Amino acid sequence: MSFIARRKQTRQISIGGVKVGGGAPITVQSMTNTFTHDIGATVEQIHRLEAAGCELVRVAVPDAAAVEAISSIKEQISIPLIADIHFDYRLALGAVRAGADALRINPGNIGGAKKVKAVAKLALERGIAIRIGVNAGSLEKEILKRYGSATPEAMVESALRHIELLESFDFHDIKLSIKASDVARTVEAYRLAASKTDFPLHVGVTEAGTLVSGTVKSALGIGILLADGIGDTIRVSLTRDPVDEVRVGFEILKALKIRQRGPDIISCPTCGRCEIDLVDVVERVESALITKTTPVQLAIMGCVVNGPGEAREADIGIAGGKGHGVLFKKGKVVRKVPEDRLVETLLEEVEKCEKT
Ligand code: SF4
Repeated sequence: MSFIARRKQTRQISIGGVKVGGGAPITVQSMTNTFTHDIGATVEQIHRLEAAGCELVRVAVPDAAAVEAISSIKEQISIPLIADIHFDYRLALGAVRAGADALRINPGNIGGAKKVKAVAKLALERGIAIRIGVNAGSLEKEILKRYGSATPEAMVESALRHIELLESFDFHDIKLSIKASDVARTVEAYRLAASKTDFPLHVGVTEAGTLVSGTVKSALGIGILLADGIGDTIRVSLTRDPVDEVRVGFEILKALKIRQRGPDIISCPTCGRCEIDLVDVVERVESALITKTTPVQLAIMGCVVNGPGEAREADIGIAGGKGHGVLFKKGKVVRKVPEDRLVETLLEEVEKCEKT
């Protein structure tokens, strides 16, 4: 039996044709870190995100120039675009008119019920969804005062209040996120929210940090929730190229065997028995395969202790020797490959797997 709990049943929404919730596959999303008004740079980054498997992309819309860029960006990309807006409801209206596929707003910070109503009305007319994105760092003052700090209960109260506001305008295509920058509060807040609403949940740990710390926090926070059956779309947050967010997102889903995308690489940590430059081989193979979608298992091992065993179980494997590696395919020894041909050989073998 799987240790992953049965997925919590949520309502389904659609973002530019990509279904979220209601049993749809858990999607991986990211956010650009270019200036949105710089159309060329933003489109270039979105193309790299698409190639890495990103399924929904969010852009910051802090001003009128960003609103103006949306339609041109939309014409040049093939995944749905979500406009992220704070404070100014006119930007939200502009983004919807410019063709954004969804909005991320905090209804509480865009200027009162009348303005929220205007946004909800237009979003409803255009059939686009709204994510309510509650962050521990920007809770309403009154709620903060009552709870003393941004506790999970305080964050969920804020989220429920925003939901109620949107629903009072007959708007129900809602997705919810409730993020803190630490794992414990994030997990508790999502668990509480999942027990109180059935809106689809966008799960992530906010401002998680650098590649190592952000990956660890995200893998734990998102992983614990997914194992609980909570989460319909995920965003890993890292202080670096967002393509890495998508890579880490898929690695989390792959590790939990929730979704498979692209090669799954098993490699040993190396030790004093390793007589080839395995770190270099693994890194080169991994970066060459970022855009591949075929699920192939690759074992890249340093020596004959665990090498042949792991390499035999994978679709394609290498067990290192002195200046060479032994190539395995589907459990059978194929041939010896010199060290300087290992990367090329592994990539050729993945290519062959894709064709079969
Ligand atoms: S497979 Fe060999 S080289 Fe790699 S860690 Fe194990 S013993 Fe060391």
